Amino acid sequence: MSPKNFWRLPLALLLLSFCQFAPAQSTASKSAAELRGSVTPERAWWDVLHYDLTVEVFPNLRSLKGKTKIAFRVLSPGSVLQLDLQKPLQVTEVLMGSTRLSLRRKGHVYWITFPKQLETGADVEITAAFEGTPTPSRNPPWSGGLSWKKDKQGAHFIATTCQGIGASIWWPNKDHGYDEPDKGMDIHVTVPMNLVAVSNGRLLKTEMDKDRKTKTFHWQVKNPINNYGVNLNIGDYVHFSEKYRGDFGTLDMDYWVLKRDEAKARKHFVEAPRVIEAFEYWFGKYPFYEDSYKLVQVPYLGMEHQSSVTYGNGFRNGYRGRDLSRTGVGLKFDFIIVHESAHEWFGNNISMRDAADMWIHEAFACYAESLFVEYFFTRKEAQDYIIGIRGNIMNDRPIIGTYGRNESGSGDMYYKGANMLHTLRQVIDNDIVWRRIIIGFNKEFWHKTVTTQEFESHMGKMAGLDLCFQGRVFFGCWAWMMNQIGAR
Ligand SMILES: [Zn+2]
Repeated sequence: MSPKNFWRLPLALLLLSFCQFAPAQSTASKSAAELRGSVTPERAWWDVLHYDLTVEVFPNLRSLKGKTKIAFRVLSPGSVLQLDLQKPLQVTEVLMGSTRLSLRRKGHVYWITFPKQLETGADVEITAAFEGTPTPSRNPPWSGGLSWKKDKQGAHFIATTCQGIGASIWWPNKDHGYDEPDKGMDIHVTVPMNLVAVSNGRLLKTEMDKDRKTKTFHWQVKNPINNYGVNLNIGDYVHFSEKYRGDFGTLDMDYWVLKRDEAKARKHFVEAPRVIEAFEYWFGKYPFYEDSYKLVQVPYLGMEHQSSVTYGNGFRNGYRGRDLSRTGVGLKFDFIIVHESAHEWFGNNISMRDAADMWIHEAFACYAESLFVEYFFTRKEAQDYIIGIRGNIMNDRPIIGTYGRNESGSGDMYYKGANMLHTLRQVIDNDIVWRRIIIGFNKEFWHKTVTTQEFESHMGKMAGLDLCFQGRVFFGCWAWMMNQIGAR
């Protein structure tokens, strides 16, 4: 640089320092949907190994304060990392060891800049502290956020839900389905000492702080877990348990319910081991023996939280006491226990890589309802059920959503998706092969994320069919026929 250009030096340094704190221009200009739903360059270079979430819940203030420790491996050199946390929560600081990292926020995304580029293969740990008043859920589980409810005795009854909107609505993480923590997650929840906090996996320890009048519950998940499957449930819970002895060993089954509902739950939850029995027959080994199986009572209908299936169906059969198939068969089982537990195989063991492929979760969980009926009742009733739920098909838009934008497809992914699977079984016309295919699916994609293309190729290979071609012809005709007869 010549002396006459010397004035440019401070300007160059200023620009350089700005660039260090900035993500790639292409990322900075992305829409909120793209930042949330795509694997941005600031996400792609690192792989989450483990999350360690510590959070204190303040029921009277309806607020949270905590930190997420993220252990990750560097896959390719990088210096700017995307972390997601939705407003109005905020990240207060991010540390790597004792080094405070710089932050820049756009909407629900933070870009964290490291002092120097991290090199491939390095294992790194950062801790993001956060606090604030999270978005309340207005219609759980269909809208995400915190439900701040009270039970009939006036005790706090609190739960998180975040399917769709994403886990970053209540804790900071890499909020995209493609990257699950390979070594699982630890969750430490602190609540007022008269309450119990239940989360995923196993309860390792409980600590009381008599001065602060709080209790901290340490839960641990050993397996990879999808972000939206992580949950907190807080209430005046009691606990009971049993051991299920099946073909694959002994499974710990735990139940957490409100004190006043214990008697009802003890009677009604005899359904739970039956569900494990039916689905281990149809889908293979329960995917989370290390983390156990749980049913946890919540102040909303229910959700497939991994190893912490949440339940609010009123201890009665059907879907809130109704039969979705209008055949009578839907009242032979508790919809929430059956449907949400089926997600342990399809949703939690095998998880969609992109939200556009959510049909893989829902079509199978819906189809699983009929398989439960077939296992414990009759094949005829299972068929009646699956045919009966066709009345709920809307034919409004495709069941596959838009890739890269965290957009799932039509609600038809349930009933039409289940009927698609039922139809494939008729096309294959060999129950031994059919069962081998769905068990094989759980083996091949054990604890993995998956795409529609992978599903099609697995199904096609094992069934010896070109599903793309036959599927297009078949479902094209079927949709046309349904439209002709005005079926809804
Ligand atoms: Zn579902």
